[in-house]
Amino acid sequence: MVTLSNHKLEQIVKKQRIQKQQILMYQKVMDGIRQDLKFKSLLKLIIRSVCRGLGFKRAGIFLIDSDNRNVRLVMGIDKNGKFEQNKERIPINLKPGKNYFADVINGHKKFFFSNDIPHRIPKKDKFRVPVYNNALVPLRFGKAKAIGALAVDNLDENRPITKSDVLALLSYATQVGLAIDCFRSHEKMIGLSFTDIMTGLYNRRFFEKALSQEINRCQRYSRTFSLLIVDIDHFKRVNDTYGHDAGDEIIRQIADILQHNLRGLDVVCRVGGEEFAVILPETPSQNLTIVVDRLLKEVRQASPHVEAMVKKKERVTISIGVASYRGGDLSSAALFKMADKSLYHAKRTGRDRSGPHYDSAKNLRLALLNNK
Ligand code: GH3
Ligand code: MG
Ligand code: MG
Repeated sequence: MVTLSNHKLEQIVKKQRIQKQQILMYQKVMDGIRQDLKFKSLLKLIIRSVCRGLGFKRAGIFLIDSDNRNVRLVMGIDKNGKFEQNKERIPINLKPGKNYFADVINGHKKFFFSNDIPHRIPKKDKFRVPVYNNALVPLRFGKAKAIGALAVDNLDENRPITKSDVLALLSYATQVGLAIDCFRSHEKMIGLSFTDIMTGLYNRRFFEKALSQEINRCQRYSRTFSLLIVDIDHFKRVNDTYGHDAGDEIIRQIADILQHNLRGLDVVCRVGGEEFAVILPETPSQNLTIVVDRLLKEVRQASPHVEAMVKKKERVTISIGVASYRGGDLSSAALFKMADKSLYHAKRTGRDRSGPHYDSAKNLRLALLNNK
């Protein structure tokens, strides 16, 4: 019979616990992606598994900023178990030996842990963190460049971090790096598939999803929102007279005007060639006149971003269809049809104006007629 020393047994148990944590984290990340988990929630999940699963008192994920020059604590857990973030930037474009964050991230050091630190940090390093019982490993997978670092410590505890702890953490950090990278590319992909490349606004696909979500929300909590459909007037003429590129430029200009004259909460989408839709949460129809008039005026007074049009003193105008949800069992398609009807009315009566404000409560008959 093979007998194992206590130490060996402990090591095996520890290894198993770490593997279990890695599998668990992966499962949660995949579940999270399926359920639209936010990036912050993913980071919290990782931090929790580092502390509870691997047994460290505190942990922090530091990620490299988009400028590639600094790292920042994007999510950490303090000694009381509270999540924290820190905007303070730690530079990483430093020569070896200047700062251990930079050394770990740039690959000059494979890792740091407490015994290693005191004589290596320059005394005046303002980014110096408690040197007692802590460790830092890079977040990197394979040979790829590190995307940040994972820091842990056992602050206020007489439980030293050993080299074998650090080696285990190193392997765990590889999985964390992979999970973060996988999540980020997934988010980027989702972002791209919901973005209209030409204007940077949300596209029709996103609009449809957002509109039905907003109707559900308002039905559930008895809230109100409004919908605008914005269509450029006589746009065919712009294309025919000044060319397709000029037409594109005008579409981009109108997109900018819409975005700059609406609240951050409003969802601005390009839903067709020269047609836009805006979802205005918590905006009842009586508050809409000001918004709609402002948009009409801003477009009317803007100087077209097409020189030939400016020379000919041509102006661009838009027409706007308006509908508000104010209760009722209404489909998103029905509300869209109401706004479209309003737009059609604005076009028929001369353009450069808004149509009648349809309201799902007041125009119940119209709503029911459309509700197919
Ligand atoms: P109305 O005032 O009734 O809206 O007239 P209109 O000419 O704007 O309306 P219509 O819908 O007939 O024409 C829209 C034109 O928009 C037709 C199409 O060639 C053009 N278009 C659609 N998508 C794009 C695009 O991405 N770029 C450009 N330049 N033109 C586009
Ligand atoms: Mg048009
Ligand atoms: Mg149109």
